[in-house]
Formats: sequence, structure tokens, C-alpha cells
Amino acid sequence: MNEEQKIACHVCKKDIPKAAALHAEGEEYVLHFCNIECMDYWKKEKKKTEKEE
Ligand SMILES: [Zn+2]
Repeated sequence: MNEEQKIACHVCKKDIPKAAALHAEGEEYVLHFCNIECMDYWKKEKKKTEKEE
């Protein structure tokens, strides 16, 4: 049995070990990222959409 759980990065969809993933928590969700670059990318995109109100 492989105990290492894999999840997909929210941005690039790459499979990454859950233990090594970075995550961002929202009100009703948790997102996973393979590295800080993907997390930054998502943060920028998020800001963009938030401004468009
Ligand atoms: Zn990624």
C-alpha cells in the first residue's frame, strides 16, 4: 500500500504528494498548490476577480 496521498495542483494540475503541497484555505474550500509560484498565480487571479465588482 502506498500511503502517500497525491492531489492535483489547483493551477497546473500536476500531481503532488499531499504532504508537500502548499494550501490556501477559503471560507468553504481548501486549495492545493505544487509550489509558491502556482499559489502566487492563483492569488493574483483571485484579486483580479475580486476587483471586478
Ligand atoms: Zn502547480
